Amino acid sequence: MENKKGLERIESPRYIFFGPNAISKIGEVLRSLSIRSPILLISGPSVTRAVAEDLASSLEPDYRILHVLTTGGLEDLMDAIKTARKSEVDLLIGVGGGKPLDITKILAAELGVRYVVVPTSASHDGIASPSVSFTLSREIEERFGRAIRVEAPTAILADTTIINRASPITFKSGFGDLVAKITAVRDWELAYKLRDEPYSEYAASMSLLSAKIAMDHAHEIRTRLEESTRILVKALIGSGVAMSIAGSSRPASGSEHMFSHALDILSSEAGVKPAPHGIQVAIGTIMMAYLQGQDWKMIKEKLIEAGVPTTAEEAGISPDMIVKALTIAHKIRERYTILGSSGLTLSAAEKLARVTGVIK
Ligand code: ZN
Repeated sequence: MENKKGLERIESPRYIFFGPNAISKIGEVLRSLSIRSPILLISGPSVTRAVAEDLASSLEPDYRILHVLTTGGLEDLMDAIKTARKSEVDLLIGVGGGKPLDITKILAAELGVRYVVVPTSASHDGIASPSVSFTLSREIEERFGRAIRVEAPTAILADTTIINRASPITFKSGFGDLVAKITAVRDWELAYKLRDEPYSEYAASMSLLSAKIAMDHAHEIRTRLEESTRILVKALIGSGVAMSIAGSSRPASGSEHMFSHALDILSSEAGVKPAPHGIQVAIGTIMMAYLQGQDWKMIKEKLIEAGVPTTAEEAGISPDMIVKALTIAHKIRERYTILGSSGLTLSAAEKLARVTGVIK
């Protein structure tokens, strides 16, 4: 039989360090990669700035470091591109929870430069994935396209001492983003069977394993001990690597992520701040699991065990917005899922949210 897939390419990070003081490995990583000056450091303007500044001073004896701050906007990004081009930077280091890492990835794609990721929270699996995970500003999407793909990070330094300083909601969000793999993988299987989409059993198994490990330790998430943070971080990195193996975000993102992106859009239209990514995704996972005929009650129990909000009220999302998001989620992107091509009717969406206890 002809091998329909042809040649496959797997890309993965070269160095992954996790644990207390993982950040101290940066010098070793840079030497192994034969990095030359200058290096462009990208961080947020407040909390992550201090981490980036410490990192810069540890490297400055040996390297020239340029540091740009970003809030995730187009102007910051264009400035960073200009700085990087002018000084011919050899490497990018992204320090942050979400947006600075996404900006680093866009820069890496634009400049064709390698990048290192230093996550300051364990709130999502974008810390190790080759794709941009957040809903970026409209201007950035218009300028660079929506689905930006880059190579996997060359190194990941997940310092659990730094990550443990992040707020409790970031851990819950990371847990929610992991539980989502259960519905994401099922959607992927569906697309494989109904649309003959490329599918990788390895990537799917690895993604599900990440969800399983996190769920087996659900009760520890609240404790935020070094060991539980390490489990969460490892699982998030595992999910990111699964995306690298698949060559797409398919193993990590299905209908539950489309629901979350729909909430992002509706929140921005309403001028309200969306709930954290992993929290929205977790609520989506409960409902999509119901549609897929999976054990949604078990998923909900695990989320409750980890302290993750499972209702619109707990998550601070209006019930109307939940229902509206369910009806538009299928239009978010060209990705075949349990939502099919025409999505849910308003009454079906309302019923789904009620029966799963997401709305009263
Ligand atoms: Zn996610």
